[in-house]
Amino acid sequence: MLIAGNWKMNTDLAAATQLAQDVVAAVGDPGAVQVAVCPPFISLDAVFGALRGSAVKLGAQNMHAADAGAYTGEVAAPMLRSVGCDYVILGHSERRQYFGETDAGVNAKVKQALANGLIPIICVGEVLDERRAGRENEVVQTQVAGALDGVSVDDPARLVIAYEPVWAIGTGETATPAQAQDMHAFIRGLLSKRFGESFARDIHILYGGSMKPANAADLLSQTDVDGGLIGGASLKADSFAAIVQAEQGA
Ligand code: PEP
Repeated sequence: MLIAGNWKMNTDLAAATQLAQDVVAAVGDPGAVQVAVCPPFISLDAVFGALRGSAVKLGAQNMHAADAGAYTGEVAAPMLRSVGCDYVILGHSERRQYFGETDAGVNAKVKQALANGLIPIICVGEVLDERRAGRENEVVQTQVAGALDGVSVDDPARLVIAYEPVWAIGTGETATPAQAQDMHAFIRGLLSKRFGESFARDIHILYGGSMKPANAADLLSQTDVDGGLIGGASLKADSFAAIVQAEQGA
């Protein structure tokens, strides 16, 4: 069970530090639920400081696939490790849509994240036209296969998949619990073929797309929904903590 907050391009340094402090206070002891927040790069160091001593872990929202070098404006995996990141979100639909990320690019980053001890949260999901055309499974299968091409990993705790139907991200529209369950079961089946049954049983498959306190319990109680990747509702400590509590009860 994992609840991760994606703060996207929100919060300056002061606001991010404050939000991290508020999240720590609101979440308290999350028990068996793993919790992470993913602030903008410039606040990672300060947020790591604010999280120290708590159960809340740190993640980044993206990274480059190379170790270091002439890639102006980019951030490398060893840099993320050096500021205390455990997680990195890769292949978010906004990265695919606005920054031209491809499955091959995501794949290179996944390998680099794993090589550096970061847990990639790999985002997959179809756009509305693809769902209307009944192509959602095909699209997600291609994204999962592409992201994991040539990836070798034995421990299911080293990898996270987030199913985020693009039509549900930031729109207020949510997949129904049944739609989420169907796709999560499909993804688990793909992972079972790729990594074996016990790996697939234990890996966390998160749902993302307008999850909020009002709908979290229904989504998180689905058999194959192992947590959430939360955008908008992670920017308020209380609503983020309420989703963590929903997961505790799921
Ligand atoms: C996301 O961007 O990962 C996300 C799920 O956003 P929201 O919760 O705002 O739909």
